[in-house]
Amino acid sequence: MRVLVTGGAGFIGSHLCDLLLSRGHEVIALDNLVTGSTKNIEQLAGNDRFKFIKQDVTEYIYLEGQLDAVLHLASLPSPVDYLEKPIQTLKVGALGTHKALGLAKKKGARFLLASTSEVYGDPLVHPQPEEYWGNVNPVGPRGVYDESKRFAEALTMAYHRYHGVDTRIARIFNTYGPRMRLDDGRVVPNFIRQSLKGEPLTVYDDGSRTRSFCYYSDLVEGLYRLLMSSECMPVNLGNPDEMTILDFAQKVLEVVGGASKIVFIVPEDQRTKEDPQTRRPDIEKAREVLGWIPKVSLEEGLRATAKWFRHRV
Ligand code: UDP
Repeated sequence: MRVLVTGGAGFIGSHLCDLLLSRGHEVIALDNLVTGSTKNIEQLAGNDRFKFIKQDVTEYIYLEGQLDAVLHLASLPSPVDYLEKPIQTLKVGALGTHKALGLAKKKGARFLLASTSEVYGDPLVHPQPEEYWGNVNPVGPRGVYDESKRFAEALTMAYHRYHGVDTRIARIFNTYGPRMRLDDGRVVPNFIRQSLKGEPLTVYDDGSRTRSFCYYSDLVEGLYRLLMSSECMPVNLGNPDEMTILDFAQKVLEVVGGASKIVFIVPEDQRTKEDPQTRRPDIEKAREVLGWIPKVSLEEGLRATAKWFRHRV
């Protein structure tokens, strides 16, 4: 296949490019490098099945030749990033998805949307199955991200139903691993960086919120299987191993080592206002339809991520 990956120089996008190339496909990565980095794809320089285009996905995408799939990963998934760049976040989810779908339609290509567990908002159903419609505040601080992805899902289904585009929707839960930006503000890079530097681990509020963390290699395998499947309705991809953020901080300390302490803080910019209290994917559908379950344990994944971070801190 000849595949376009938007956000191809980002954390997950670049790992997906690696996977697609390793399975024999030809890959074009498109990225405006706002949060992505050419460092994430430098290992691909010189590969004649790989091409990089520096472009914002919200602008018209002109590509010559045949195209078999468009994988739309361009996004600003860190709460710190989307609070800083709220309008860009809305634009990439809305206008960017429109451009990527338009390209897929024109080329007769399959389209995969990287959606998110944030479409469930602060969930009132636990764990979250795909049938749950969510609990989102459109005018709250997280609304810019959540609503852009909800709009992206609606637009994807409209192109599917009205234009007959062959579409897929992955709802990605918290994912971590090498190539996350050290300063992206999310809990995994924060805690690992803090542990490596011997600084206190900043647990927000009382640390009782829960999350479930999936290692990147499991996630990209799930995305690939979904692309190759015939499932056009949303599929959750994540690791159901749920824990509180306080337990997660302790786990990071245990795995990374060092003498850091844990501190409880309330961020001044109110970034934790409406922060979902719990989150855990129901992955029954991925198991049934894709034969997929995550394989990498938290300890193994954290060890590998910390090793990668150690060289960069
Ligand atoms: N969090 C924290 N300390 C940090 C960064 C994040 O306690 O230094 C918390 C945050 O409030 C949230 C959870 O960790 O409850 C996961 O946050 P993250 O930003 O990684 O992503 P989210 O799952 O909220 O989108």
